Amino acid sequence: MGTVYLNGQFLPQEQAQISVMDRGFLFGDGVYEVIPVFGGRCFRLDEHLARLSYSLRETHIVEPLSRAQWQSIFETLIEAYGGGDQALYLQVTRGVAKAREHKFPTDCAPTVFVMSRVLAALPEQAPAPIAAIAMEDIRWRRCDIKSISLLGSVLMTQQALEAGAREAILLRDGRVLEGASSNVFAVVDGILYTAPKDRNILAGITRDLIVELVQQHGLAFREQALPATELSRASELWISSSTREMVPIGQLGDSVIGSGAAGPVFEQVWCWYRNFRSQFAH
Ligand code: PMP
Repeated sequence: MGTVYLNGQFLPQEQAQISVMDRGFLFGDGVYEVIPVFGGRCFRLDEHLARLSYSLRETHIVEPLSRAQWQSIFETLIEAYGGGDQALYLQVTRGVAKAREHKFPTDCAPTVFVMSRVLAALPEQAPAPIAAIAMEDIRWRRCDIKSISLLGSVLMTQQALEAGAREAILLRDGRVLEGASSNVFAVVDGILYTAPKDRNILAGITRDLIVELVQQHGLAFREQALPATELSRASELWISSSTREMVPIGQLGDSVIGSGAAGPVFEQVWCWYRNFRSQFAH
């Protein structure tokens, strides 16, 4: 079992322990990040740390560490796991309180936990399409915060898996928002759509990179939440996330999307994305 970081110490995972009074354990009162590591270096580190600061600010949890401190922890763990491609997971909770009370405790310091895992070698070919199902989003109204309270996502992911699908596509007020743990892109009438960054979705770092690439290359693109009724007209549908990168959806419920394989817009954007990532990693 691997090395983890907990509150100032590096130790074997099986020896890392937190109090049962930790607010993360009792209330899900904390935030997290997943940072991909390519070629031994953190990918889009500034963006991930900026999103962490945003989540901390919005939840009124004090920033526990400086950028240099985070970086030093990440470097130690990346080395402990042998460099290469990894996914760093970090979690900050409000800390350990004396009593289980909803109000913020006045006398506790955040709990900081970081671990890593080795990622499978990244594909050079576009990944194979997956099946997904659409469902009503059951989460709270602050999906812009990367909260560790993930029960909604857990239940929807499980529902998708039990239906033979790999991702749940979430709908709210008749619009397509994102996946249970990914952002969603759709192509309708040759235009690429993804939902705008508001409180309904998590501002994915991979999503933002894709938007950057698409705008740089002048692809027809709208930052608009697609009406769910338009899904049946989509010629392409894909998801993005830090660890899954970009994955085409070949089937949504009973309907085949486009030809059922990765579409031309996906192939083009995937190529831009892969080039960007490989330039970074070498
Ligand atoms: N939306 C949700 C709800 C997620 O959980 C994730 C992945 N954590 C994403 C989008 C994708 O974000 P990122 O590209 O930063 O991994």
